[in-house]
Amino acid sequence: MQARDPQASLDWRIGFQSIDCRLPKGDNVVPDIWKKYFNEEWLSRDKQKLTRKLRSLRHLGSTKVQIGSHEFLNFSSNDYLGLTGDLRIAEAAASAAGRYGWGTAASRLVTGSSTLHTKLEGEIAAFRGTETSLLFGSGYQANLGVISALVGSGDTVLSDAMNHASIVAGCKLSGASVRVFKHRDCDDLERHLNGVKKGRILVVTDTLFSIEGDTADLPRIVKLCERFNALLIVDDAHANACLGKRGRGVPEIQGVNGQIPMVVATFSKGLGSYGGFVACSEQIRDFLINNSRPFIYTTSIPIALAAANLEALKIVRREGDALRQKLATNTAFARTKLESAGFELTGDYQIIGVNVEGPEEAMFISGEVEFHGVLIHPMRWPTVPKDRNCLRVSITAAHTEEDISRMVEALKRARNSMAKKKTDGLTRRVSRRPTGQRLDAVQAPAADDFGDFDQLPGENMMSASDSSKLPPPSQVTDFAPEDEVAAPGDTMIAQEGFAGNDKPTAPIEKNSEETPTKVAVVPESEEESKPDEAPATATVEEDIQEEFPTDDEPSPSGATLAPEAMELADPVIAEIEGGTKKRPRKTSKHKKSDD
Ligand code: PMP
Repeated sequence: MQARDPQASLDWRIGFQSIDCRLPKGDNVVPDIWKKYFNEEWLSRDKQKLTRKLRSLRHLGSTKVQIGSHEFLNFSSNDYLGLTGDLRIAEAAASAAGRYGWGTAASRLVTGSSTLHTKLEGEIAAFRGTETSLLFGSGYQANLGVISALVGSGDTVLSDAMNHASIVAGCKLSGASVRVFKHRDCDDLERHLNGVKKGRILVVTDTLFSIEGDTADLPRIVKLCERFNALLIVDDAHANACLGKRGRGVPEIQGVNGQIPMVVATFSKGLGSYGGFVACSEQIRDFLINNSRPFIYTTSIPIALAAANLEALKIVRREGDALRQKLATNTAFARTKLESAGFELTGDYQIIGVNVEGPEEAMFISGEVEFHGVLIHPMRWPTVPKDRNCLRVSITAAHTEEDISRMVEALKRARNSMAKKKTDGLTRRVSRRPTGQRLDAVQAPAADDFGDFDQLPGENMMSASDSSKLPPPSQVTDFAPEDEVAAPGDTMIAQEGFAGNDKPTAPIEKNSEETPTKVAVVPESEEESKPDEAPATATVEEDIQEEFPTDDEPSPSGATLAPEAMELADPVIAEIEGGTKKRPRKTSKHKKSDD
């Protein structure tokens, strides 16, 4: 009997290395003229501190993320009600995926429309208080799909200067004449409306603006639209489920919910899931189904995602009051603390803009707070206009007062470092770290530790075992002498997008059970010949083989996954994330023949 190659089989199943190694080196197939262009673009942005890189995070519940082996408090998410980690939503998806599979294989108008899609659209309408609704793949697609369907050449769309990028893209795609009115300036909107002489008019605005957290004056905009026969679309992405007695966002708190013909929103923020929608009348829905190309020519969202979104709505219907109350309390607490610390803030709700002077300062402060174990995203061009720079702090219902206090402390310290940097003109920080921390115990993480690792070779990093010696970040006051300090911008680019200079103070304490350890694979023949010495653990590959039957063992199609089978995703995820979990070996099922 031939011994199987477990690694090859695993690669095939999870689609990794074996495919990659056959690809040509990407660089060789790009024309030089394009390479030059990419290079020039990069250098030009780099000079302005405007380059970005992706980094891989591991999400630990709603408020924490892990990068490398360090844990951060997350004040950069849109998970306003703390539902992204809610297992009821994940379980609804898993159960529906077990029942219906994952893909839908066609657009809604072909064969991709299921009863769950339709049910979800009914639930959204009930939630938003409209006649009906229409699903889109994401909030971005919803804006593209709605705006581009409603206006075209000869028409005019009026858009707030700070509208979200997806609205801007929808306006461009429409081919209509686009007039941008000054941010939240209804006089300017009126002036533009007066200037439109022909065609249909569409007005579009965010409700709760995503960067600075300020709000549009919807009652006035509604009135202007009535007067000029303009159709109004509002994007309530950041307020949906989070604001208003019934979670109907800014239209509800401003008392105009029934007067807005189209509300675009997303499941990806307050509702803790994914997918976009427009809540509207039956007539508009029919129109969109027939005219919206980003709706018509794309595959419908997975049925399992529809199930997850139904569950998210159910949770918000039942628990929304308490979650919104907690969010409001946390927001008030954070705003009061930040204001009394002297920060200049924008907005009124859970998105808090903290004003800074320029992109360099935004990057510096963001890097500094990261050093203190807190993630706060810097907002730079092209996300905001070139003359606007701020840090975006987003508060969620899942934060505790202690989390918020830590965030404010981190910002205060970052501001002090910034002031010092300005007066001393210092640009280089060398191994900034809490004093008293031993560096001899420092070690790099295991090579297979969470893939995309930010640590540079030779950079200092505490081992997990050292974490117990650290004071909590709120107590860390003594730092290495300031003459060892460098600006984050100096090192940031080299660190592949790590916005700070150094590593934060709170490394993860690893659960030994979770340590990604490769389990030796015993070839089957060997295993069979030494039954008594068979290892007490199974490999991922074996687990997959057992749970995802091969052709020899077909599973009844359409069967619901049993709970035990759902567990199976677990080792797959472990492998994808870079480690193999030890699992108790099961019985003779493993002894399969490849013949
Ligand atoms: N509208 C606004 C105002 C947004 O901020 C965003 C995303 N940040 C979107 C739409 C897009 O939503 P989604 O993430 O679901 O594509």
